[in-house]
Amino acid sequence: MKFRNFKLVGHVIFGRGAFAQIDEIIAPHRKGDAPMIFFVDHFFEGNQPWLAKIPLQGKDKIVFIDVTHEPKTTVVDALRDQLKAEFGEVSGIIGVGGGSTMDMAKAVALMMTNPGSSADYQGWDLVQQRGVYKVGVPTLSGTGAEVSRTCVLTGPTRKLGMNSDFTTFDQIVLDPEMIKNAPVNQRFYTAMDCYIHCIESLEGTFLNAFSRSYGEKALQLCQEIFLEKDNWDDDADEKLMMASYAGGMSIAYSQVGVAHAVSYGLSYLLGTKHGVGNCIVFDKLEEYYPAGVKEFKEMVKKHNIDIPQGICKDLTDEQFNKMIDVSLGMAPLWENALGKDWQSIMTREKLRALYEQL
Ligand code: NAD
Ligand code: ZN
Repeated sequence: MKFRNFKLVGHVIFGRGAFAQIDEIIAPHRKGDAPMIFFVDHFFEGNQPWLAKIPLQGKDKIVFIDVTHEPKTTVVDALRDQLKAEFGEVSGIIGVGGGSTMDMAKAVALMMTNPGSSADYQGWDLVQQRGVYKVGVPTLSGTGAEVSRTCVLTGPTRKLGMNSDFTTFDQIVLDPEMIKNAPVNQRFYTAMDCYIHCIESLEGTFLNAFSRSYGEKALQLCQEIFLEKDNWDDDADEKLMMASYAGGMSIAYSQVGVAHAVSYGLSYLLGTKHGVGNCIVFDKLEEYYPAGVKEFKEMVKKHNIDIPQGICKDLTDEQFNKMIDVSLGMAPLWENALGKDWQSIMTREKLRALYEQL
């Protein structure tokens, strides 16, 4: 097909307090007595009033998702096996958390109906069966995981998503109240994932009018929130939530670029988390995104955020080589960033020199 036929999220609800409607939203998707399973970020265990309001019925269950490490195929498979052993079938999975928890919800929902291991489906359009009903409820905004057609997993040999039309959520609930109390540093790192998505999409060679429209809007919202405002308020949460949505829509039809390609290497070798890893890399990318990096540094300064430095200083040649292999494996990202001729521009030596600066 010459043009990509772009799969969207099925239903979207936006509004402060919208999560209170979850019972009504999921009711039509209940299948007999098969339960709805709520995957909730472990941060919330025991400390959130809204947890008590989750409308559990029959065999419905809350499973707290430990996101100390970003999602792994082994953990996805184990959760699928547990749910199958306990319930046989489930009606649906509702992921309430940041990008990691939402991705776990997408992956396990798919693995309830697809045989084998989630590692078998890391790639593009390998998923064969529609999964069970799935809902995403962000508690951090920035990744765009709520709108994307992927769920990023670390598997035995690579870090790569299950990209498919079946991966997109059936429903998302955008409730700014849910992101209200995120810690300042974490909120910034995840929000900068969105800012970086915008820059990489807008400066990329894959850009079209669809991606540009969403990317420009998301970028403008990030600038309003992080440069023009002096205090964080409800309006900032609402704008950040919509920036994440629009930034996700922008990259879904284009691609990310240098910061993501380099940050994937860090994440694979050192387990560096996506948001902070992107910030560590983007901070050093003046050569590729001069205006974006300048503005990023202003935001870091204004919000008094720590960007870790020197994380590669003690690595061995073998470790550098592993990161370079992982990073150069992300061909579409490099092509978007540098054009068809990217391999002659981003040599192993040049990439090594970049990693040494981090
Ligand atoms: P995260 O989900 O990894 O969470 C980061 C930390 O914040 C965790 O410790 C978590 O417990 C905590 N947390 C979450 N919500 C909170 C809240 N409201 N208050 C306090 N703490 C909270 O962070 P993220 O940046 O949202 O997501 C990164 C993940 O998203 C990575 O696994 C990355 O691979 C994935 N990702 C996916 C896509 C996609 O399209 N599917 C795109 C980008 C990133
Ligand atoms: Zn990202």
